Amino acid sequence: MKRLILKSVLLSMALFSCSKEESTASQTDLNVSVISTTGRDLKIREAKAFENKVQKKLNDPEFAAKFQENEAFTKRYETLIAEAAKSGKSNLPLRVLNIAVNIIHVDDAPPTRQQVRQQIGILNRAFEGGRTNRSRVPERFRRSIAGDTRIQFDLQRIRYKRIPEPLTDEFDLFFDSTGGMDPINPENTINVYVSTSDEFEFGPFAGAAGLPGLVPPEFDHIVIDFLAFGTETGDIFTNAGETLVHEMGHFLNLHHLPGPGGENVASGCRVDDFVGDTPNTSVLYDLFQDEAILGETTTSCGSQDMFVNFMGDSADSVLEMFTIGQRNRMRATLEPGGSRSNFIQAGS
Ligand SMILES: [Zn+2]
Repeated sequence: MKRLILKSVLLSMALFSCSKEESTASQTDLNVSVISTTGRDLKIREAKAFENKVQKKLNDPEFAAKFQENEAFTKRYETLIAEAAKSGKSNLPLRVLNIAVNIIHVDDAPPTRQQVRQQIGILNRAFEGGRTNRSRVPERFRRSIAGDTRIQFDLQRIRYKRIPEPLTDEFDLFFDSTGGMDPINPENTINVYVSTSDEFEFGPFAGAAGLPGLVPPEFDHIVIDFLAFGTETGDIFTNAGETLVHEMGHFLNLHHLPGPGGENVASGCRVDDFVGDTPNTSVLYDLFQDEAILGETTTSCGSQDMFVNFMGDSADSVLEMFTIGQRNRMRATLEPGGSRSNFIQAGS
């Protein structure tokens, strides 16, 4: 039974990142160096840019209330799913979500349309369980593997915009008026923005996304750096297309495994990710890929860490799975009245 301190949650529920500088003792001891073959690095999976700007909103009673409302809705759904499983009626209807990709680039070689489609294919395979290699999941976690979440993504549009110089604020990506692109049908389509994060205040980072209801609608989109999009990025830590899988997890209401604000030894074991079948942990393993280290002995909070979970921050080559509890939490957002149900394609 994991513990939860609600105050910590409300104060830090949008804290998605863990920089090297804030690494825990166990992370520091790993002494992992960042190597780039392209002349620039992605040192972190996410940045604090979103967090800092959203942080002000967290004191807003309206946002706090929305958070509590989402949690109550999720709990009701999880109860229904558990009851259905007991009675053998746990077939999950397929949920197909509209998605669009907006590429904002300076150079001549943005991802091709084929590469975009390949990345969406990776996203879909991850959500249907096809990217999980059970032999790479520590044995004690195998019974928690979600398998097919019955959530899929249908690519509606790919758009390109060339700009003279990189934008300096990721939120500028979301508006024509600030040099970016207005989203496509944001009322029913998940908009993914692909760009460089080099010039962002908190960049470079691999990706960013907000939890449902906690980001103002005009900023409620997903951002992925070129070096973390697709499989031909040149960045050895993010070249398997898993950043979009991770960010989509956030978008569908998943927290990091250490829980919001729990990515340090001091507080990590006192906060939760609200998922019952993930172990309590205080380590994000930010872009770590050394499998000799990420082994059976990797522990925190008194138990082995699920470093292979998509909602940890290990390097792409290490990530393997969502859990059944995470699947249920994501699917809850797609139930009638759920916080992301507006993205479900008509007829699915
Ligand atoms: Zn994250």
